[in-house]
Amino acid sequence: MANETTLVVIKPDAIQRGLTGYVLTRLEQQKLHVIGAKATRVSRELAKEHYKHLSHKDFFNDLLDHLTGKIHGTSYVLVFVFWGPEAIERVRQVTGATHPEKADPMSLRGSFGRMTAAGIMENIIHASADRTEAEREIALWFRPEELLSLPIVTGA
Ligand code: ATP
Ligand code: MG
Repeated sequence: MANETTLVVIKPDAIQRGLTGYVLTRLEQQKLHVIGAKATRVSRELAKEHYKHLSHKDFFNDLLDHLTGKIHGTSYVLVFVFWGPEAIERVRQVTGATHPEKADPMSLRGSFGRMTAAGIMENIIHASADRTEAEREIALWFRPEELLSLPIVTGA
């Protein structure tokens, strides 16, 4: 099993509902390690760049309002880089499908996600979809010196 790095953003809906500890517990249980972590404000420019592949969608503006905290009245998100065996797929499994109603009920989105009456998809976290996306996103959210250098000795 190849070791990978992946980006997780704990979104404003999860911050508002106090789910940070639970989310991190679920991810750590996948034998993954945090090699980067921070609380950060999200500018509209950063949100636009992060979700640029969706800029043509009719929900793009709502998506920017969500990630920047405008909808939930939060001023920051928590961002993590996880490292470990098949990290990208493992995190996506725990996360669940994009739409909370289609997500496995045991996943984070299946358990806590919802589509609000106003049409905002509250789906708890962002997780990189593949290696190309992970590499791009980690470089977008972190400077190289903010990450622990690899390999990590886990003692496992
Ligand atoms: P993420 O990138 O946040 O981990 P994902 O990879 O499962 O989610 P994407 O297709 O990349 O799914 O969509 C990014 C985000 O856009 C979703 O997490 C959600 O917040 C929002 N989104 C996607 N589809 C819809 C939709 N139909 N209506 C409203 N918001 C949507
Ligand atoms: Mg995505």
